[in-house]
Amino acid sequence: MKLTVLGKYGPFPKVNGATSSYLLKIGGKNVLIDCGAGAFSRLTTLIKPEEIDVIFLSHFHFDHTSDMGVLIYYYQSLFAKGHTKKPVVFCPDDGGALVDSVINCPYFDVNLVRGGEISMFDDIDFEFFEMRHPVQSVGVKISRGGKVFAYTGDTNICDGLNDLFAGSNLVLADGAFLCKDWNQNLPHLSVEYIVELSKKYGNRSIISHINPKYDEEELQKAVENTNCEIAQEGKSYSL
Ligand SMILES: [Zn+2]
Ligand SMILES: [Zn+2]
Repeated sequence: MKLTVLGKYGPFPKVNGATSSYLLKIGGKNVLIDCGAGAFSRLTTLIKPEEIDVIFLSHFHFDHTSDMGVLIYYYQSLFAKGHTKKPVVFCPDDGGALVDSVINCPYFDVNLVRGGEISMFDDIDFEFFEMRHPVQSVGVKISRGGKVFAYTGDTNICDGLNDLFAGSNLVLADGAFLCKDWNQNLPHLSVEYIVELSKKYGNRSIISHINPKYDEEELQKAVENTNCEIAQEGKSYSL
């Protein structure tokens, strides 16, 4: 299993950066995790978009879904040339217009999911967890052959987070704030809270959804001597 960071920023990118998007290679399959601004271009440096097997969208905020629009245009041109393979999409339904544009897209096999549900693709398990965000947002555990990868999507502290961290080998987590700027009414976690959870559950965490207002140095300081690291765009993490 190999995770590559396509975009690590939210709610907008730094210069030459991209927002939330990751490629997970697992059992010979390509799973695109969120598809924010700049994701499509970054993805094409690694695979052809027609090689995507599964797309998981945690929720329908623009910093996680904006490049779904251009991906749909790309698939439109593929299907016009006779391509027939549809990627499977797992996403929640928040009733908004963006969800409709994905649900109504004829090039994807869309499955609406909620926390507590489990789906399979080949021999890959997808388990979904309800997160806490202003719109319906789900986290996911993706596992195969005893190895478990987890992604929080966007969330603040909630019960589902403990279930997500427990038993996971590698967690990709929303660390949009440093503790000094965080409170429990905000829509995201703090870097320091992820460090705490990773210590509690003994897993390695990649902290992402980086707010562009922070200096890299300041963020690195918060994860010094822990089993957490700040996500780097273009970097791959194996498990
Ligand atoms: Zn976000
Ligand atoms: Zn969000």
